[in-house]
Amino acid sequence: MSLFGRREHDALRSELAIAEARLRASEHDAARLRAVLDTVPVGLVLADAKGKPVMSTPAARRGGHADVLVDDALEHLLADAAAGQAAERRLDLFGPPPRTLLLRGIPLPDGGALGVIDDVTERVRLDSVRTDFVANISHELKTPIGALAVLAETVADHEDVDVMRALAERMVLEAHRASSTIDDLLELSRIELGGEAVYEVVDLGMVVAEAVHRNGLAAERRNIAIVMHDPHPPKAMGDSRQIVSALANLLDNAVKYSDDGSSVTVYVTRVGDWVDIAVADRGIGIPTRDLDRIFERFYRVDRARSRETGGTGLGLAIVRHVANNHGGEVRVESHEGEGSVFTLRIPACTDS
Ligand code: ADP
Repeated sequence: MSLFGRREHDALRSELAIAEARLRASEHDAARLRAVLDTVPVGLVLADAKGKPVMSTPAARRGGHADVLVDDALEHLLADAAAGQAAERRLDLFGPPPRTLLLRGIPLPDGGALGVIDDVTERVRLDSVRTDFVANISHELKTPIGALAVLAETVADHEDVDVMRALAERMVLEAHRASSTIDDLLELSRIELGGEAVYEVVDLGMVVAEAVHRNGLAAERRNIAIVMHDPHPPKAMGDSRQIVSALANLLDNAVKYSDDGSSVTVYVTRVGDWVDIAVADRGIGIPTRDLDRIFERFYRVDRARSRETGGTGLGLAIVRHVANNHGGEVRVESHEGEGSVFTLRIPACTDS
């Protein structure tokens, strides 16, 4: 005789089915949680009450466990965290590639511990770029402002009108220098943020004309001719204001680093889906060893010459950002004593 009647049997079966469904659901939830944790870029290591790792996410294995130093540091942090003591430690690994990791041990409420491995390499790099940038700006502004203070003090001590006039002229120059640096910094930050970048059909004829116009006076003073090689250039796609700014900076350099009476030529050429805008000069050229660095902010080949000609060291950084914002590039070919060609590549307007 059966211990259960049919009704009890059915009730038991349905309870069993519910329990199975719950188990499946919780297995499903666990699998989902696992899948989610596996996508977290921060490495996670779960440890038991003794601090021994029982589970880790792929990021933890990828970013940390490969290194003995990381293993060692994590072991201590997990042991401390399992004993209720939260702690964190920064590890600088020499690589290659060099990396900086932030390791944390967190005690869990019902025993055990969680280890967190955060790869902060990029954050640390950006921090140092920012610190360098601030130091550079301070230096760049301190120089003309310091000079202004000294000149003003000297003016105050003089009564000779000619001397005072000469000092005043130098004060104007230094004030312009500080103001150009600020203008370029503002332009660079506007372009870097790129928030307001537009994507429109760009008439390169107008763009080149505007950039030439901005440099007209400086070129004229030095009897340098700026020649537009292609009177009917192809159209481009992008942000005309940014392209004018990049081209004006290239022309400014071409004029600045050329001898009086020389000439600068602008070529605009369609190359497949791109337009190349090249600015060629016959100026002093750039030593090969400096070519990789000239696009960095505040980098100058010849600090004295750049200063003498009113350079801010930011022009080519602006050009590089404009190229990047357009998905293009900027290239340079240069030979000392012969001249330079800077080529800005931006998307062509494919309907033109
Ligand atoms: P700057 O304001 O000093 O000209 P840039 O960022 O525009 O700063 O250029 C960086 C450096 O690259 C310049 O200081 C100069 O040494 C070099 N350079 C740029 N363009 C030219 C060029 N056409 N001919 C020679 N040197 C150049």
